[in-house]
Parts: sequence; C-alpha cells; structure tokens
Amino acid sequence: MFLSVLAFLLRLFFILFLIQLVRRIWIAITGAGPAARRENARSRTKVGQMFRDPICGTYIAQDLALTTQSGGQQYFFCSDQCRREFLKKK
Ligand SMILES: [Zn+2]
Repeated sequence: MFLSVLAFLLRLFFILFLIQLVRRIWIAITGAGPAARRENARSRTKVGQMFRDPICGTYIAQDLALTTQSGGQQYFFCSDQCRREFLKKK
C-alpha cells in the first residue's frame, strides 16, 4: 500500500517535472512565455541605456559600464583596460 502511494507520487512528480521541462523548452524556443515577454521588455529598456565603448566599440549597459569624465562628457567603457587605454590616448 505504502509503496504504491510512493510510486504514484514519484510518477506525479516526474510528470510535473516533464511538463515544466517542456514548458521551459517551449518558452526558450518561441520566447512566448509571459516571463520571456517581461524579460524582453526589460532588455528593451536596457537597450535605451546602452553606451558605446570608444576604445573597442562594444556596447555596454549603463549600469555595467565603467565611466570617466572628459571635456564635460561622460564616456562608458566595458573594462578598466579600455578606460586606461582611453585615458592614455587623451
Ligand atoms: Zn572595451
């Protein structure tokens, strides 16, 4: 009796796990899930805050970038290496 209940629960968990897995794969493929839509909206707003690294040309999100002030303008860098390169060239 106990074993059959246990087997039933295991099967139930396995099925739930499979459903979750399929849903995650489906969302990853289609990007159609509500979570994915929210994620898209968030990355869209981030795109508006992207700045170009003048040294290597990489686009960096403002909150991830290293910055320096030069001639009243703010510059954004992907790494300290790029920032140092920029300050050397100046
Ligand atoms: Zn860079």
